[in-house]
Amino acid sequence: AADLPHLSPSDPTAQALGYVEDNTKTTNPKHKAGDDCTNCQFYQGKAGAAWGPCQLFPGKDVNAKGWCVSHQPKA
Ligand code: SF4
Repeated sequence: AADLPHLSPSDPTAQALGYVEDNTKTTNPKHKAGDDCTNCQFYQGKAGAAWGPCQLFPGKDVNAKGWCVSHQPKA
């Protein structure tokens, strides 16, 4: 599948969910150390890929090292 456009952190929905491209840079108190998109159940990127789709942001790729407040650990 072709890569999707990268989700902009300034996108209104991204901002509403506190999305950041680097989880280590967020100051959001809901962030737990080690949580990033790769270990979120909504992430659909391939293992090792730098970017991948997220079910919450249709049509965009999020950063594998990113994070937002909707993070849910993979089951
Ligand atoms: Fe990343 Fe999960 Fe938030 Fe999507 S829902 S941006 S995969 S932390």
